[in-house]
Amino acid sequence: MYNDFKEFLTTELTNIESAGLYKKERVIVTPQKADIKVSTGQEVLNFCANNYLGLSNSQVLADAAKKALDERGFGMSSVRFICGTQDLHLELEKRIAEFFGTEDTILYASAFDANGGVFEPLLNEEDAIISDSLNHASIIDGVRLCKAQRYRYSNANMEELENSLKLAQAQRFRLIVTDGVFSMDGNVAPIDKIYELARRYNAMIMIDESHSAGVVGRTGRGTTELYNLRGEVEIITGTLGKAFGGAIGGFTTGKKEIIAMLRQRSRPYLFSNSIPPMVAAAGIAMFDMMSKTNHLQDKLHSNTEYFTKKMQMAGFDIKPTQSAICAVMLYDAKLSQQMASRLLEEGIYVVGFYYPVVPKDQARIRVQISAGHEPAHLDKCVEAFTKVGKELGVI
Ligand SMILES: *Cc1c(COP(=O)(O)O)cnc(C)c1O
Repeated sequence: MYNDFKEFLTTELTNIESAGLYKKERVIVTPQKADIKVSTGQEVLNFCANNYLGLSNSQVLADAAKKALDERGFGMSSVRFICGTQDLHLELEKRIAEFFGTEDTILYASAFDANGGVFEPLLNEEDAIISDSLNHASIIDGVRLCKAQRYRYSNANMEELENSLKLAQAQRFRLIVTDGVFSMDGNVAPIDKIYELARRYNAMIMIDESHSAGVVGRTGRGTTELYNLRGEVEIITGTLGKAFGGAIGGFTTGKKEIIAMLRQRSRPYLFSNSIPPMVAAAGIAMFDMMSKTNHLQDKLHSNTEYFTKKMQMAGFDIKPTQSAICAVMLYDAKLSQQMASRLLEEGIYVVGFYYPVVPKDQARIRVQISAGHEPAHLDKCVEAFTKVGKELGVI
């Protein structure tokens, strides 16, 4: 059998490669940070990590993790409800709820799991899920596991959302689901308008804050801070794998009855291992730090403003961003790849995205800004973009 299957896979893989969609991994041989070294020996500035607050290589987090590693061991070898819960897990759940102004939190191994395990335990065929078309793959998969009636509206299109809400009056409960920040454009979901529609059409709201937590809002508390709606949204999901240190782990936080039901019925929680004590301890140290100071969030915001302004002054077409994601529009797929590889030669690590990851003729380079970037890093990035941009006739 395997010979036939091998032939089939080889053909498929060749097709992926010839379509230019084969994903190759660049190997980093330093910690994750602004200036990294790759296995070819080249030193580059990293502008494509989700390391928004520059905490991936934080000494404070590493020290907290080391201490927990010594005191609490390496792993739990259990799911939470059997014998996988330490006080550290409960403390981290409490800290996440404090951060978002919510009632309670449940931890998962990843945000992918949080989204995969949130719909099926709460809603059934009598209910409706109304989802933004650009929501993350894990939301799409989570919705597939649930029997609720599905509605979809174009990205941030409130007219279409309203139409779906009208149709969904036929169902018992309605849940509107959206990413807080959409990862390809960096735009924030219009939570104020979604909230208004939810009140008018009697629906609940879930926001995935993976790209917005630690980033959006004056103190980085996410989209509910930006729109003055702290505590008003029923469900928030998010990751510890981006701004919050970048290790591993996800969560759902929100109304306490919802969290209580997830602890009873959410399959990725019930049937997958507890996060390591050191990761929980580092998370607690991180929320400790954030409760005392906003300096990283402030630095991220001023870095983002500085970078986008300089890029616009250099003549680039930048999508308006309300996050730390900065889409440099090139429109042409081939150009986006050429430009990214020329930038790498100039020591700037960024990725070009094109169809089907973004709409046709909307190819771009996505630059992700971090509090870990210093002004000199940002200047070097703009200089390289300017040099390569002129060379390729972009500006
Ligand atoms: C990154 C991301 C996830 C997945 O997070 P993990 O913790 O890495 O699984 C889920 N949702 C959104 C919107 C994301 O951007």
